[in-house]
Parts: sequence; structure tokens; C-alpha cells
Amino acid sequence: MSFEHNIIWKKCKKCGFLQHSSHLRCIKCKSEDFDTVKAEGNPKLISYTILKAPPAEFRDKASYALGIMEFENGVKGLGQITNQNNLKTGMNLTPIYRKICENLDGKEVYNFVFQPI
Ligand SMILES: [Zn+2]
Repeated sequence: MSFEHNIIWKKCKKCGFLQHSSHLRCIKCKSEDFDTVKAEGNPKLISYTILKAPPAEFRDKASYALGIMEFENGVKGLGQITNQNNLKTGMNLTPIYRKICENLDGKEVYNFVFQPI
């Protein structure tokens, strides 16, 4: 399992603007012609928050940290951070694939989480 395949963004072929893949047209120049770009390099933490009311699936946690990461090629992603203390914007993180919770049917759910380096 490679993290690079988990986050895919769109790069406008006309103006080069990089944006989330949910946009149908370039938010800068309105072009509909894109290349796909995968997250590359090490992520840095650019913003985070502590979630004090986690969704029901995370019932084993009283709270957790959720952050926005920026990869070396400009692609950004949202993810859970492994700890809540000593977090600083600009710090380096490493993606780790692991069990994140058990869903409401008791099935184990795996995904990437981010660990400060
Ligand atoms: Zn564009």
C-alpha cells in the first residue's frame, strides 16, 4: 500500500493551477483540461485542530487531532494525526497505514494517519 496513490489532485493543462480533484473546471481559468497529480515527497503540517466530539466510529477516543498536510509538490490532504501534543505548523510528518477505528458494525477500518517526525 503506497500513500502516493491515496491523494490525487488535478493540474490545469492551460494555466498550471493545482487544485482538489472535486472541482470540475479550473477555478482560475475555467479550463476543463487536466493532468492528474499524485502526492509526492514528505508532508508538512500547515494547519490542525483538535476534534473534541469525534464521529461515532471513533467512540474509543475522547478527542483527536485532524490536520491539513502539504506535500513537497503542493498537493494537500486532510488526515488524522497520531498525537495531540506538541504539534506545530511547518513540522514534518510521515504517513502510516494502520487501523483507525472499528465501524458501527464492528469491522476494522484502515487508513493513513500522520505521525510527527
Ligand atoms: Zn487553469
